[in-house]
Amino acid sequence: MSALTFPILQVLSDGKFHSGEDLADRFAVTRATVWNAIQHAEKLGVEVFSVRGRGYRLPQAIDMLDEQAVLTAIGEQREWFNLQLLDEIDSTNSYLMKQAAKGAPHVTCVAAHIQTSGKGRRGRAWVSHLGASLTFSLLWRFNCGAAALSGLSLAVGVALMRAFQQLGVPGVCLKWPNDVLYDNRKLAGILIELQGDMDGPSAAVIGVGVNLRLPEQVLKRIDQPAIDLASIGVAVNQGELLGTLLRHLADVLHAFEDDGFVALRAEWLSYHVYHNRPVRMLMPDGRDVHGTVRDVAEDGILLVETALGLQRFSAGEISLRTGV
Ligand code: ATP
Repeated sequence: MSALTFPILQVLSDGKFHSGEDLADRFAVTRATVWNAIQHAEKLGVEVFSVRGRGYRLPQAIDMLDEQAVLTAIGEQREWFNLQLLDEIDSTNSYLMKQAAKGAPHVTCVAAHIQTSGKGRRGRAWVSHLGASLTFSLLWRFNCGAAALSGLSLAVGVALMRAFQQLGVPGVCLKWPNDVLYDNRKLAGILIELQGDMDGPSAAVIGVGVNLRLPEQVLKRIDQPAIDLASIGVAVNQGELLGTLLRHLADVLHAFEDDGFVALRAEWLSYHVYHNRPVRMLMPDGRDVHGTVRDVAEDGILLVETALGLQRFSAGEISLRTGV
């Protein structure tokens, strides 16, 4: 670990060469200390070119998350958020779950430049890369118990869709329970972890990962079709994206607190890519169940017409795939 790694990466984020001597002068350290800081960046998976006589540079310019841009995009509600930008962390969700248990305030948001062990559902991994992905988690405290939060992950999908629409991202849709897809490829993922009692109060840590501009070698590490905003032709600043997402998350979470998922259900259905389409459900026991999606219930349960009639499926252990 080197305290200088991220300040140096911030300088290198312009994609230009910076000599070891200039960097050493700028931070009042030796060139060996600069070299050590760069070594640490490489251990984190950041490729840094080093050319004798010219110095260090990144393969291309990158967009580092900037606090001011986030606050500007949140707008009037900015005072309300407790925003923490971290350089590197194993997982923003794991970190915020621990902070929540120690009493972190309602509406704490933790974003990280680098996640070293990003998480998906059921022990799966979320892949991200410096300057190429947005990864953050938001803590929201509820008076109700965890039992009343079953539709929450779908509600969060609505917030993401509203934010993407505001930013002019075309052709995005949701896949139950809450992946954001473009052309059947995954653009963003959501992971919600809960703590507290079943009958209240409770706290949700809402983790979101959005792909901005993933390098080819990073895309190859993802074991299902994935896509990023740049490939869709959308160039959005990370800070603006985070602030816009937080603003819509706050609106949706307030609506959810007041009325539950029922208030958002019709909107969610309008975004669902498989509505009235044939699907295949991957069951925890390894079976595939085939059917046609008909509806979603007020608690987020998916209603699918199968050979046995209209059946109810809860998100916990099931993965949904196209049936054609
Ligand atoms: P489900 O349909 O059950 O939600 P899922 O496979 O989408 O299934 P998640 O837990 O939501 O599972 O997300 C984790 C999965 O997402 C990983 O197993 C991987 O396949 C995929 N993934 C990981 N990183 C990324 C990324 N940056 N972009 C798109 N997809 C990713």
